[in-house]
Amino acid sequence: MSKRLAIFDMDGTLLLSPGPRTEDAHKGFWKNPEPLETREAPVIEDTLEALNRSLAAGATVIVMTGRRYSPRMQTAAAAALEAAGVRGYAKLYLKPQDEGDTGAWKERMIPALARRYGASRVDLWDDRPEHAEAFRRVLQRHLLEGTVTEVSDPRWIWGTVQPKDA
Ligand SMILES: [Mg+2]
Repeated sequence: MSKRLAIFDMDGTLLLSPGPRTEDAHKGFWKNPEPLETREAPVIEDTLEALNRSLAAGATVIVMTGRRYSPRMQTAAAAALEAAGVRGYAKLYLKPQDEGDTGAWKERMIPALARRYGASRVDLWDDRPEHAEAFRRVLQRHLLEGTVTEVSDPRWIWGTVQPKDA
């Protein structure tokens, strides 16, 4: 049986993460771990079910977020996932300090992770339509099987407003 990888975005895909309360609060908001540390981030149930189904099917599950890495952000993201009941994933990747565009970073990570885990099938979940489109092209280009699910939870309002780093 070929190995399967399942890659989930965090903000707006697995979690209804806390968003900025005002227009002014937007700048730098997603780089700040404090809202994740101090406010609720309810789970998006459909995505959690998909994650648990992936685990049950024997897939290696990865969570990958465009939130920029710092030890504090890593801890905050892991704690938010834990509090939301997201468990069993193999690794939580935050965007490295020296990376710019989240989409470009994730696009490069997909084939790299497929190689690392020896997977010929990669399924992905992301709330950003432009990322989902790009991921489909990456799968095709690298001859990887898999589907890309665009998560669109009506409770998540930040996708259209921003979040450039989420
Ligand atoms: Mg997102």
